[in-house]
Amino acid sequence: MEDCVFCKIIKGELLSTKLYEDNDFVIIKDINPTAKVHLLAIPKNHVPYIDMMTEEGASYLGKIMLKISKMQEELGITEGFRLVINQGENAGQTVEHVHIHILGGEKLKEM
Ligand code: 5GP
Ligand code: ZN
Repeated sequence: MEDCVFCKIIKGELLSTKLYEDNDFVIIKDINPTAKVHLLAIPKNHVPYIDMMTEEGASYLGKIMLKISKMQEELGITEGFRLVINQGENAGQTVEHVHIHILGGEKLKEM
């Protein structure tokens, strides 16, 4: 999508700190961190909301989560982490391109 911030980051049109990239997704540092480690795992395919994903896309999100759990050392989240997906206004979704927040690096506040 032309005016999507995350599509621009994926294409390299906007700068970001990338920690990981493969054919299907990237992991970048969030520009406005709310935890000591605050990363975003972003699938390269532009889908605005999780409820718009295909079964294949959704199962790929599961694979991304598994990958994250195997990259704890590189990501600095070995003491525990939280994965969050926001959908819609009430959840505070601001970027309409599905992404997983990865939070950790410190004791997180209770939800
Ligand atoms: P949402 O609120 O949609 O779940 O999360 C969007 C996240 O993207 C926010 O935490 C926000 O700080 C982050 N973000 C927005 N624009 C940019 C950007 O240009 N670069 C990076 N690295 N993060 C961004
Ligand atoms: Zn996008």
